[in-house]
Amino acid sequence: MAEVKLGSRNIAYNMVAMSFLSSVFFKGYHVWIKRDRICQYADSLLKTQYLSPEAMAELRRKKLGELLCQAVTAVPYYRERFSGDPERLRKDPDLSQFGLLDKSIIRANYEALQHRDIAAMGAEKNSTSGSTGESLFFLISRKQHWMCDAEYFRSYSWIGTTPLVPQGTLWGARFDNLPETGFKGFMRDHFKPFYFFSSYDLTEEKLELICRTIREKKLEVFTSYPSPLEHLAKFVKTRGYNFPSLKGIITSSEQLFPYQREMFGQVFGCPVFNRYGSREFGFIAHECEKHEGLHISAEHVWVEILNDALQPCKPGEIGDLYITDLDNYAMPFIRYRIGDRASWKGIDCSCGRSLPLLEQIDGRSFELVRDRSGHAVSGTFWTLVTRFVAPEIIAFQLHQKTLDEAELLLVSPQKLSGPQEKLLQEKIVEKLPDLQISIRYVDEIPLTRSGKKRFVTSDLER
Ligand SMILES: [Zn+2]
Repeated sequence: MAEVKLGSRNIAYNMVAMSFLSSVFFKGYHVWIKRDRICQYADSLLKTQYLSPEAMAELRRKKLGELLCQAVTAVPYYRERFSGDPERLRKDPDLSQFGLLDKSIIRANYEALQHRDIAAMGAEKNSTSGSTGESLFFLISRKQHWMCDAEYFRSYSWIGTTPLVPQGTLWGARFDNLPETGFKGFMRDHFKPFYFFSSYDLTEEKLELICRTIREKKLEVFTSYPSPLEHLAKFVKTRGYNFPSLKGIITSSEQLFPYQREMFGQVFGCPVFNRYGSREFGFIAHECEKHEGLHISAEHVWVEILNDALQPCKPGEIGDLYITDLDNYAMPFIRYRIGDRASWKGIDCSCGRSLPLLEQIDGRSFELVRDRSGHAVSGTFWTLVTRFVAPEIIAFQLHQKTLDEAELLLVSPQKLSGPQEKLLQEKIVEKLPDLQISIRYVDEIPLTRSGKKRFVTSDLER
C-alpha cells in the first residue's frame, strides 16, 4: 500500500472536494447516466497527490512502461522505429530510445500514429489551431478525456472550492463558446451556474455587466486570459468595486506576468491560480494554494525540459517543453514538442504534494525574437523593457519581419520622447545588436483568431 500523507489543512481541502465528489448529483450523473470513470479517477488523484516521492516515481514509471510497450507493439509509427524487446520497455521504460515528436511529424504520420484498437478506446478526433493559426488534428482516448476532467476537479480542491460553484469565464476560443443544449445544458444551467463573457467584446457596458454578474450571482471563481483580465481589472479599479464572493482567479493560455498577478490579487481581493494546459493534453500544470510554482499533473503527463543540445535542463534553466501523455494510447504523444518554454523549480512545494513544480512558463518558443548573429530574447523581455522605458505605454506588440528587421507597435497616450526612444533602442540593441527596430503607433493591438493577445508575432519559419 502506497504511503499517503495528509496534514490538517490538506484534509480540509480534500473534504471540500470529497463532499463534492460524493454528492448524489455528481456521482449519479457520471456513474449511472454517463457511465464514465471521472469520479473514480478524481478520487484517486486526490489521494495520489500525497504519495511519497518514491511511490509517485513508481506509479509514473509503471504508466510510462505500459505506454511505451503499447506504442511499440500496436502503433505502426513506433513499431517501425523500435527493434528491441517491448516487454523490456515495460519493465525499464527508457524515453531516450524514442525520437522527438512535433506538429509536422504528426501531420505527416497521422494514420501511422494511431493504435490498432482505437475503436475500443473510444477515440475522438480533436484539433488545436495553436497560436500559429495552423490546425493540428489528433485523436484522444476516452481514458485521456476522463483523466483530464478528473485533473480539472482536483484543481478546484486546490482553490478550496468545487467546479459546481457559481463562476465566470472571460474567454475567446470559439469552440469553447458554444452553449450546451439538451440534458447536459439543463444540468449545467440548474446545478452549475456558469457565466461566459467573450474577450472579443470588452466595451465599458460589457465590463460593467461582468462586474454586476460577479457581484449579484456571487461568483466564487473567475477564469480568464491575463490580457483581457488586466483590462477588466483596470476598469474595476477606476470604479472602486469589490467582490467579496470571489475565492480565486484562474489565469491560463497566456503568460502571466508578476505585475498582473499583483494587480489581480489587489483588485479582485483573492488569490490568483495560474494554470497551464493545451488541447493535446488537457491539464499539464496548475498552482496550489501555496503558489510556489505550478504542480505538473504527474499522474497524467511526463514532462521533460530540454536545452538546445536536447539535454535535460537544470532547475532554473529555461528550455523547451516536451510532453508525453501517459493516458492517451489512441495516438501516443511521446516526447512532443509543445512549443512552450519553462524551467523546473527544483524544490518541493510546502503543501506536501509530491507533484513536481514548474518554476515558470516563459512565453512560447515562437515568441523568441532573433537576430542574424544568433541573439534571441523571449516575450518577457518586451514587457519588461517597455514598462521600464515608458510605463505609460498601454499595449505593445513586436512583429518580427526578417532576421534583420522588426516593428514595435505601441499603443500609448502620447509618443515617446526623444530620450525615451533612444533608451528603448539602446536596451534592445544590448540584447539584439543586429536587429533594426522601427516604432509605429497604433490605436489597438490586433487579437489572434481565438481572441488572445500575442506580445510577439513573427514571419520567420519556426
Ligand atoms: Zn503545492
